[in-house]
Amino acid sequence: MNLTALAPRVCFEASKNATLDFRVGLRDKKIIIKISVAFLARPTDLERFTPIGTFLHRAKKKQRRDFWALRELCRKPALWDAGKRFLLSHELAHIYHHHICRNPATHAESRRDEKQADLTATEFSEDIEIEGGIRFFQIVGKYQQIEEEDHPAPHVRVAYLQTRRDALRSGKAVRSPVLPARPLPTDRPSAKIN
Ligand SMILES: [Zn+2]
Repeated sequence: MNLTALAPRVCFEASKNATLDFRVGLRDKKIIIKISVAFLARPTDLERFTPIGTFLHRAKKKQRRDFWALRELCRKPALWDAGKRFLLSHELAHIYHHHICRNPATHAESRRDEKQADLTATEFSEDIEIEGGIRFFQIVGKYQQIEEEDHPAPHVRVAYLQTRRDALRSGKAVRSPVLPARPLPTDRPSAKIN
């Protein structure tokens, strides 16, 4: 699959669930970036009486945990905005690595893909965006009760992102100004949204 040929077919979809999910996948030869409505909320929208606040308050139990995490994230709006840019970079890294062209065979493979996307995202993120990403995983980890097998645990993501951030700050690591071109994959097709 030549992803370059799909470039004009990148679509954003707002997901009607209220979880803090941000995903990318391939469907009908289109790259779909799926954003939960929760990402679009401003701190003032989270009050009970506003339309988004009412919607989020009525969300199912799992989604309510994400709601509390969202409330905490919104307390530092500038850092939360930077965090959202980091998460978008993470999804773009999944496209860059062609992860969306195949389904991982195992949970371990999926976790490797996620870590690779996190670390690639740091290549095109400013320091504050990496900081926002770290804060996102810290807060999500605080409210998450069940660990997802196909993603590294939030505290694991926090640890390797902090290491990477520190290496960039101290000059032990440098960002690649331009990422090298990726060879096209010869993979199994997939409709999976990661
Ligand atoms: Zn991912």
